[in-house]
Amino acid sequence: MLDLTPREICERKALRINPLKTCQPVGALYAALGVRRCMPHSHGSQGCVSYHRTFLTRHFKEPAVASSSSFTEGASVFGGGANLRASVKNIFDVYDPDVIAVHTTCLSETIGDDLNSYILEMEIPEGKLVVHCNTPSYVGSHVTGFASMVAGFVRYLADAGSPADGRVAVFPGFLNPGDLREYKRLLGLAGLPFIMLPDQTGVMDGPMTGSYEMFPEGGTTVDEIRALGGAREALAMGEFASTEPALALKGKCGVEARVMPLPIGVRATDGFVAALSGISGRPVPRELEEERGRLVDLMLDANPYYYGKRCSVFGDPDTVLGITSLALELGMVPVHVVTGTPGEAFERKARALLEPFGALEGARVKAAGDLFDLHQWIKNDGTDLLIGTSYGKQIAKAEDLPFVRAGFPVLDRYGHSYRPIIGYRGGLALATDIADAIMDRIDRDCADEDLEVVM
Ligand code: SF4
Repeated sequence: MLDLTPREICERKALRINPLKTCQPVGALYAALGVRRCMPHSHGSQGCVSYHRTFLTRHFKEPAVASSSSFTEGASVFGGGANLRASVKNIFDVYDPDVIAVHTTCLSETIGDDLNSYILEMEIPEGKLVVHCNTPSYVGSHVTGFASMVAGFVRYLADAGSPADGRVAVFPGFLNPGDLREYKRLLGLAGLPFIMLPDQTGVMDGPMTGSYEMFPEGGTTVDEIRALGGAREALAMGEFASTEPALALKGKCGVEARVMPLPIGVRATDGFVAALSGISGRPVPRELEEERGRLVDLMLDANPYYYGKRCSVFGDPDTVLGITSLALELGMVPVHVVTGTPGEAFERKARALLEPFGALEGARVKAAGDLFDLHQWIKNDGTDLLIGTSYGKQIAKAEDLPFVRAGFPVLDRYGHSYRPIIGYRGGLALATDIADAIMDRIDRDCADEDLEVVM
């Protein structure tokens, strides 16, 4: 399929080939699904929202509900205010959510629809809420849209007058429900009461019950979002996905925030666990020390297979930085580190990870890159392993490379959204996948007499 990708690299500025990101509303929709009884609403044409819903459903294998302002030619010319008013009325009448979370689309942004004014002027039933964020897809990525929607909830709903009740605000980053469950377990072990926003557990990883619930019993409640204003501190996990909501909370309610990397790999998880211990004033639980020890044990056991392997890591910025960190700890050499999301900070942070390991020289690091870049680099530099989203599949096939799926989206396999990659447990799972992929390749390529059962 990608056999014709040329080796020769030409500088490109305005053209993306085989993008490594999707549009902002996908992230905004996912964020809104993490609020209880919330209807995500796409202010634009129906085609946009059907793409966004499909994208999320393919990754999570769960229905992603959302409504649309259903723009037609008239709205494109005269603005979408009337469409939004009619939509909000119909959604509350028919589906009865507690909140409607509106995000914009390219079309409504280009028209210049003023969502603030529309929402201020519209009739909203008593006890119901409408919030919004702007998500123009000609800038940023789905990660930007996610951050903007979470920040939108904070700006609209967090209450500076909430009493301080000792809870910690946790902005978990753009992760799977499996990761969010792992966060909760770690916070529980630390004995820290918390409010997590958003929280898609129970919504995008709901159990099969035989009946359909449009609004399952998962998600952060409106009362919890209000109470964020009284949080003792905020932990903003993942700079790209969580800085904006952390700044919004500080700006509106004065809650101080620590922006931290996603806890992927030993060092980043140590940092998160230490932060929890510092806030709670309790020592790190023995259970976590043992989990850490098991991960380190695996890293040592399988070191001969990891050591010196060149890998290419791609996907969302916070996730890629986390996986790069883990790969370095395993003794691997990340030679290609790329995200489709723009942001110079990504390149700076990736280089800062690589440098202490002596892995900077010869490495290619890029924000706002694409999979065509990655494929060309691989043709020129070679690599031993791909680690990233399902969209690396064609490159893996064209170049006959082992491939570990991780991050968002994983469209062509099952179970990934249930399984964490954060924390020591997540590190153990990811390190196991990496070792398996490397060893499967050795088994595939070795002579019959070298095919060992005991390694
Ligand atoms: S028009 Fe914009 S918002 Fe709609 S699907 Fe395309 S990129 Fe996304």
